[in-house]
Amino acid sequence: MKTVQVNIVTPDGPVYDSEVAMVIAKTVSGEIGVLPGHIPLVAPLTIGGVQLKNASGKSDFVAVSGGFIEVRPDKISILAPSAELASSIDVARAQEAKARAEERLKAKKDEVDFQRAELALKRAINRINVHEGNM
Ligand code: ATP
Repeated sequence: MKTVQVNIVTPDGPVYDSEVAMVIAKTVSGEIGVLPGHIPLVAPLTIGGVQLKNASGKSDFVAVSGGFIEVRPDKISILAPSAELASSIDVARAQEAKARAEERLKAKKDEVDFQRAELALKRAINRINVHEGNM
């Protein structure tokens, strides 16, 4: 089975580096499944889960908080503000971040606070979902 090298990199350093058979990621215009040999493509990502299927059919799941996917025939790079492998997600921390964001959304302060809280809520829910194996 053909594979392609995938790197997921954040400002804190690399999070994932492996040969995979397929990548499924959520771009702002919809979910894409990328196979080895795909034509070059750059697309912005939403806050969401990335599924990395290896040659034996097993998958790794990574929570990303936006960023970009850059596809080349022999290499796929994901650059994200933050990214965590499902196994390294601290669920209690995400639950606390979710509760904090929900409180801020209820407080209905100015627009900037509201948008920040909405994004924090999306990141927290995404981490909880990816940790639980829901994409
Ligand atoms: P928090 O309020 O808990 O910091 P956040 O969404 O504001 O959440 P980010 O700014 O997206 O956090 O991330 C800061 C750093 O902390 C990144 O390196 C990110 O990977 C890591 N991180 C954030 N939340 C978690 C979590 N629940 N489990 C593991 N790592 C996390």
